[in-house]
Amino acid sequence: MKFWDKSKESMSRSEIGQLQLERLQSTLNRVYKNVRHYRKSFREIDFMPEDLKCLEELRKLPFTNRDVLTDNYPYGMFAVPLREVVRLHTPAVNSDNPMVMGFTRNDLDNWAELTARNLTAVGVDRDDVVQISMTFGIITGPFGVQLGAERIGASVIPMSFGKFPAQVKIIRDFKTTILVSTPTFALGLIRVMEELNVDPETLSLKHGVFGAEPWSEQTRQEIETRLHISATDTYGLSEVFGSGAAWECLEKKGLHIAEDHFIPEIIDPVTLETLPPGTPGELVLTTISKEACPLIRFRTGAIAAISYEPCSCGRTHARISRISKRCDDLVIVRGTGIIPDQIGKILCQISGTCPNYQLLATRKDDEDHLTILVEISDIFFFDEMKKQRQFVEMLHRHLSDFLGWEVAVKLVEQGAFDPKHKVNDSRVFDV
Ligand SMILES: [Zn+2]
Repeated sequence: MKFWDKSKESMSRSEIGQLQLERLQSTLNRVYKNVRHYRKSFREIDFMPEDLKCLEELRKLPFTNRDVLTDNYPYGMFAVPLREVVRLHTPAVNSDNPMVMGFTRNDLDNWAELTARNLTAVGVDRDDVVQISMTFGIITGPFGVQLGAERIGASVIPMSFGKFPAQVKIIRDFKTTILVSTPTFALGLIRVMEELNVDPETLSLKHGVFGAEPWSEQTRQEIETRLHISATDTYGLSEVFGSGAAWECLEKKGLHIAEDHFIPEIIDPVTLETLPPGTPGELVLTTISKEACPLIRFRTGAIAAISYEPCSCGRTHARISRISKRCDDLVIVRGTGIIPDQIGKILCQISGTCPNYQLLATRKDDEDHLTILVEISDIFFFDEMKKQRQFVEMLHRHLSDFLGWEVAVKLVEQGAFDPKHKVNDSRVFDV
């Protein structure tokens, strides 16, 4: 088993606890001093950072949720002056609920370390050619993987998301050995390889690191068998770091979470009580190395169980189960997290009223599709086909621009979302 930083990744549990306590105390001091939101919320419960004497006392502190980040847009959650920030990302562009995450030089350095650990654990070294087929942009996504792979000394192809035939050509011609993408992308790639008569066995591909959306063991087996590679899961979230927060080693029995950078907790999302290891609940993360935007007890919305049992790979950091469910209303389509409310706000802006709507996510030919169903009503010029068509086209354009890929918009008849009715094709208007 290969390690990127064995001394950190295989610390004893007591060493981990000690390091976490020191880093937590220093993080609490910094946020109390520099972030108004935390100063205020600590004062409300009469807590001073120096009061914290053991890790369990973290549970006394209030949670941070996405609304807090939005309320403090743009720089309210920053714990350093802007001149120390070298990178800015936002998980939600064009949104009414915007948030900004900053990275100092040290933050980027730590991010590279986290992803270098991930890649080394699945066998990547300087002889590898790493193709990152995920969109590079203001949402963090693949930048961390690039940093980590370059730190290892591998050759990086920042391919981004693009047409499948071009991706296949690069994999073949550049002798890509490691693919980093969403699992859905890998399935699409397999389909196109079959159409192009490209036999995966003739390629140099040996491993895939897949993330940014939930996927099953069945999908893993399908990708491994049909692409002749091994496949591991990786989990990240833009609010914390992008990629690299937790990842599978080759044992594929849970995702190691870097406990020298995060303190994970699992809570009951309703009662907010801490749950014991092995019981699934909402993953809550406290960052203990981040300088620019430290987060205390951030509610991720992801459902997972945690285990502190040592892994047979030799790593001592806790493992979380694969994330297949969420307890918030985030819908993940094509690796993009969409809050339905964001779509609702765009509908309100464009239509001048706030119609009922539903998001219909489907998967066809290994590709995610999103259809926005909008309930028609009298104010929607029910009888004027031309106006309806213009309205649907305008919605289609705005929503596709917002998401960065094509969405379908369909009008449905009034009452279609009534639970007594099931939305089906006969109730959808094609205009
Ligand atoms: Zn392991």
